[in-house]
Amino acid sequence: MEHSYEVIIIGGSYAGLSAAMSLGRSLRRVLIIDGGEPCNKPAPATHNFITHDGADPAAVTERARQQVLAYDTVAFVSDKATGLKGSDGDFTVSTVSGESYQAAKILFATGLHDELPDIPGVAECWGKTVIHCPYCHGYEFRGQATGILMNTEHTVHMLQLIRNLTDGVTLFTNGPSVVKKEQVHDCGAQLIEQPIECLVQQDGQLRAVRLLDGSEIGVAALYLHPFLSQKCPLPERIGCELADNGTLVVDEFSMTTVTGIYAAGDCITHMRMVSAATGSGGKAGAMVNHALVMERFGTQHVGA
Ligand SMILES: Cc1cc2nc3c(=O)[nH]c(=O)nc-3n(C[C@H](O)[C@H](O)[C@H](O)COP(=O)(O)OP(=O)(O)OC[C@H]3O[C@@H](n4cnc5c(N)ncnc54)[C@H](O)[C@@H]3O)c2cc1C
Repeated sequence: MEHSYEVIIIGGSYAGLSAAMSLGRSLRRVLIIDGGEPCNKPAPATHNFITHDGADPAAVTERARQQVLAYDTVAFVSDKATGLKGSDGDFTVSTVSGESYQAAKILFATGLHDELPDIPGVAECWGKTVIHCPYCHGYEFRGQATGILMNTEHTVHMLQLIRNLTDGVTLFTNGPSVVKKEQVHDCGAQLIEQPIECLVQQDGQLRAVRLLDGSEIGVAALYLHPFLSQKCPLPERIGCELADNGTLVVDEFSMTTVTGIYAAGDCITHMRMVSAATGSGGKAGAMVNHALVMERFGTQHVGA
């Protein structure tokens, strides 16, 4: 059967574009379908990504898109994939704009959804002064009064990571703490268990955390870990297995538990970094090409 494309990549941010580059350089006919909503869209700068440290995230992906589209066999549409049916060798993807596309292989690079706590001010500050990762944004707030909104078994490690960057750390548990007071104090941090009313901020610039009793604790930044889930429901709907933490299960060849469907980037890991997503996408693209080569020559999967 003739296919419009050999591979459809759903998600055209860091992971999807990196996969497309591996495939374009292998002369594969590829379509990238992208909804234009990368998770770091609210952030003014990308850090810890060598050669682009401090760059505007949208500028990085735009440059990548231009480089990928320089390969004649790669096409890109701004659209949202809403349906996927078929099986290995014969998949059909339908989109919100009413288009449908065929391909032999599918690669998901659809990222994760960040569900933020329902505290007024958090959404406005997200990516700017309410942050999740010390490697991405911690250096910019070094030495400044910093809050951590967390109440899990990972809290002590987070306290230690942030104390490495600043002396002024306050742990907000927004209710009774699961971490012992002594452990918090051993990290040189103060513990606030009182419920939070809101964040005091202007245009995403955090000034303080306001507690229910009306008192305010001044902080320049607040770390929190949003609840993470798949941004795109299609992998789960077609039967791709999820790990307990909600990421897509893939094998060493980047293939999900459904034959012919691959995945890369944040959707397969909670270790969220642009460098990791590009590496994962580049590898997945090579793995898809590897599978197509194996099929053409009728050889067995022998690894990359
Ligand atoms: C606020 C914030 C700031 C960050 N800052 C940094 C930083 O400074 N440095 C760093 O290294 N990392 C940072 N990260 C992590 C980094 O942004 C991610 O690891 C990276 O974006 C993951 O790339 P990805 O391609 O897997 O997913 P994403 O970049 O999230 O892209 C997924 C893409 O898939 C598309 N998509 C989803 N579903 C569909 C669908 N059904 N149809 C079509 N398209 C779809 C989306 O629209 C999106 O364009 C940050 C993360 C966040 C949340």
